[in-house]
Amino acid sequence: MSSYPARAVVDLAAIRSNVAALREHAGGVPVMAVVKADGYGHGLVPSARAALAGGATWLGVAQVDEALALRTAGITAPVLAWLYGPGAPLEAAVAARVDLSVAAPWALDGVVVAARATGVTARVHVKVDTGLGRNGVPPAELADLLDAALRAQAEGAVAVVGLFSHLAFADAPDHPTVRGQAAVFADAVALAERAGARLEVRHLANSAATLTDASVRYDLVRPGLAVYGLSPVPQVGDPASFGLTPAMRLEADLALVKRVPAGQGVSYAHAYTTPRETMLGLVPIGYADGVPRHASGTQDRWGGPVQVGGRRLGVAGRVCMDQVVLDLGPDAAEQAGDTVVLFGSGADGEPTAEDWAQVAGTISYEIVTRVGARVPRVVVGDEAVAPTVEADEDLQ
Ligand SMILES: *Cc1c(COP(=O)(O)O)cnc(C)c1O
Repeated sequence: MSSYPARAVVDLAAIRSNVAALREHAGGVPVMAVVKADGYGHGLVPSARAALAGGATWLGVAQVDEALALRTAGITAPVLAWLYGPGAPLEAAVAARVDLSVAAPWALDGVVVAARATGVTARVHVKVDTGLGRNGVPPAELADLLDAALRAQAEGAVAVVGLFSHLAFADAPDHPTVRGQAAVFADAVALAERAGARLEVRHLANSAATLTDASVRYDLVRPGLAVYGLSPVPQVGDPASFGLTPAMRLEADLALVKRVPAGQGVSYAHAYTTPRETMLGLVPIGYADGVPRHASGTQDRWGGPVQVGGRRLGVAGRVCMDQVVLDLGPDAAEQAGDTVVLFGSGADGEPTAEDWAQVAGTISYEIVTRVGARVPRVVVGDEAVAPTVEADEDLQ
């Protein structure tokens, strides 16, 4: 293990069991595990392998480069990439049998050029904007895009295998737009089928919809956050209530413990001043490592929560680039080198990524994906997920 004094411990056994739980929630519909953004900060390739071991049969990523990294690692499962711009390495993607989203005529043209150049039929999923107002072809332009795609299919350049969309309010299951988007999607599916598309997979559900709305499962569900054991609907239920276990534990080892007098201003701008003689603990992890500066503490309120020596404390004063400070109390027994847990599964009373999200005014997605590149990922629970990344490197 690295001697670096902070680490994100990633439990692949949790990812496996989360995917198994998601398969149950999906009621027999196949699961595409979304591993974009470095597996939501948990590590792209280890997360992908664990998700496949847990029963996912597809992987989903945003960028083509992310899909190619999976292929380079030797992962052969179906992979869909859904966010790219002009100039993306589409030839490499088609050659590597990466399924590609198409949401505009220029994207279809690019995929057709790549297919002709490689001699490989490109598998495309047409993405329709059913109301999110983000990626996807507007419904009014779907017929033309489908016609062009099916002409390219007749020529053998592409196979239109999928139609998909993404929900704006899946985390508010009763929001009327969910039904509205589902209706627009149903129309889009009908249009595609009338146009002669033989769709293998129609897909609409992210984590929140997979956990809360059986009516939008279609042929494939696309959970991301829940794969990593976090709840996309914390107001509806915590991870355990959905059979999920948070897979990441972020911890750091105290770099310094010292006694200071009452009235000692702590960290930049002295946003916190010790009310009595006490022991301060210096934790070597800061906003450059993903600890949100919005989770700084004030005089009246601790900042982001931590567990140290079996008790719950919070950041005292400002979160800095590389470090935060704790007021350990006058009787603290901690010493330099002792471990502070910022968040984990919660099973041992430690805070969770959701707790940090609440303090920082954000969502747990952001807490885990922002953990910085400087923080080593330590993978545990990978017994059943061979070969490991390290083993792959040895083979090269
Ligand atoms: C990120 C993403 C997902 C996964 O969303 P979660 O809320 O993390 O489950 C699914 N589909 C698309 C298109 C996405 O961009």
